[in-house]
Amino acid sequence: MDCIFCKIIAGEIPATKVYEDEGVVAFLDISANSRGHTLVVPKQHIRNILEMDDATCTDLFVKVKKIAVAIKNNLNADGLNIAMNNEKSAGQIVFHAHVHIIPRYAGVNEIFNRTKYTYKEGEMEEIANGLRVKF
Ligand code: 5GP
Ligand code: ZN
Repeated sequence: MDCIFCKIIAGEIPATKVYEDEGVVAFLDISANSRGHTLVVPKQHIRNILEMDDATCTDLFVKVKKIAVAIKNNLNADGLNIAMNNEKSAGQIVFHAHVHIIPRYAGVNEIFNRTKYTYKEGEMEEIANGLRVKF
């Protein structure tokens, strides 16, 4: 399979790894948004969160939390953003699931860009009512 992250996991191409266990690997993003920008990746080839089984998802996000704490402490970050791009419309470029941990340093590149969306009157209630998420 022609997947850049599978190749990193297999050791076929290099990456600056910061963590590895049986389920996940974490390495520095080659095109960093900040110093220490890290990607946490399940070893299993899964397209994104929309196709992820619960066990993989649980393991991935528990590891994201642990790695985030380590990054904050080791790099003296003041905070961090955690992001995941799922599908092209959300900016996904590499179609092997991964979570971005982006350390933030006070006074440096600390703004997380948000696209604004203004709800129409009653639209928030309409959306919430329509969703009715059930597991
Ligand atoms: P996304 O799919 O979430 O938009 O972004 C994929 C991320 O993977 C990008 O931030 C990009 O810089 C990173 N990336 C792509 N190819 C490589 C690579 O070969 N090595 C590393 N370390 N990061 C990569
Ligand atoms: Zn893959």
